Amino acid sequence: MVHVSFPYSAPVSQTLFDRAAAVTPGGVNSPVRAFRAVGGTPRFMVSGTGPYLTDADGREYVDLVCSWGPMILGHAHPEVIAAVQEAVARGTSFGTPGEGEVALAEEIVARIRPVEQVRLVSSGTEATMSAIRLARGFTGRAKVIKFAGCYHGHVDALLASAGSGVATLGLPDTPGVTGAQAGDTIVLPYNDIEAVHEAFHNHPGQIACVITEASPGNMGVVPPRPGFNEGLKSACEKNGALFISDEVMTGFRTSRAGWFGVDGVVPDLMTFGKVMGGGFPAAAFGGRADVMAHLAPAGPVYQAGTLSGNPVATAAGLAQLRLLDDAAYAKVEAVSESVRALVTEALTKEGVAHRVQNASNMFSVFFTDREVRDYDGAKAQESFRFTAFFHSMLSQGVYLPPSAFESWFVSTAHDERAVEKIAAALPAAARAAAEAEEVSA
Ligand code: PLP
Repeated sequence: MVHVSFPYSAPVSQTLFDRAAAVTPGGVNSPVRAFRAVGGTPRFMVSGTGPYLTDADGREYVDLVCSWGPMILGHAHPEVIAAVQEAVARGTSFGTPGEGEVALAEEIVARIRPVEQVRLVSSGTEATMSAIRLARGFTGRAKVIKFAGCYHGHVDALLASAGSGVATLGLPDTPGVTGAQAGDTIVLPYNDIEAVHEAFHNHPGQIACVITEASPGNMGVVPPRPGFNEGLKSACEKNGALFISDEVMTGFRTSRAGWFGVDGVVPDLMTFGKVMGGGFPAAAFGGRADVMAHLAPAGPVYQAGTLSGNPVATAAGLAQLRLLDDAAYAKVEAVSESVRALVTEALTKEGVAHRVQNASNMFSVFFTDREVRDYDGAKAQESFRFTAFFHSMLSQGVYLPPSAFESWFVSTAHDERAVEKIAAALPAAARAAAEAEEVSA
């Protein structure tokens, strides 16, 4: 029998979780935080510094979640905090245009060539939702192709076979999404270009866009096969559809110019979030100027937001992006490489079947001996081993994403001490993974 034992307690977190459960569904404001897939008490964090988080019980963790990607400079980076403090002192929201949002838009346009114009929003979900609406408005078509295991936020039309929390919780398609909302979504297996050609063939003149994670990280890390993104681009071009590359996770993380900086495929529209907000709610969508010109008030496709381009969020994002130079990306890549090598070494030593997959500095561990190329492959792993691995790491002060279907993230702040702490925790965690057995419900 398995034991995921919890050889430690977290009484203050448990008390907070009980209070939270009384007033918030499931006790959390975003499902994966609830530890449902791994069990145990979710840690309520009270502070973060560099690569470390401290929970309400006073325990310190090396953070390999980094707020699910945004904290690429680590927590409470002094220059980001200073920029935020300076912005806050001038007021928190004006509901008018401001220079900060212009500067952030200029920074995005300067870094990412396919983005000629950009609109700021407050979350990745808003960015993808708006990009889809714009694609439909621009093409006058209804249907959208997405890929199983890709997550684009909780947009009604995009929740079918989604990754992230939907994968973690093993949810079927979500109640509350009507047949009409989902009926125009065509879900295809990831990395299968033939399926895309077939869908275009079967729905001539009806497909508004193909949306894909530039390099998926929401079913674990499953990079595009060579030529896949190019294939999507040319299929869209040939069929009069738009190609939307969702870079909410990869944008400004996998390189200065995100995944576009790695594979160079030019999308019609792109979406961003996470890193560009410096830990605040800021996100964006952008791309071809002739397409963006269809957005209100320049054009007829409506899109708006009370807090879009918020001065504090844009100050944080701009400060973070300006610190992300080539040396910063080299540092994040080096840390990622070290941790990947340590994980491989520990699991190999214990004879645990595994694949460490990466897309530049993003990576995750699949408990399987096969390369994972799509969602079915990701689901075929022995995720019960991850549960044991996760709790062993947690008990030794290393905070992993509480799901086998999420990317791990590192930062420029992960120094030698942090990596040593991970290295010290891995042998016992690998042993726990080796000894784990599947529990039947
Ligand atoms: N798109 C991708 C690729 C994501 O990873 C996410 C969130 O993880 C989203 C969209 C949604 O972003 P948000 O959670 O900010 O709404």
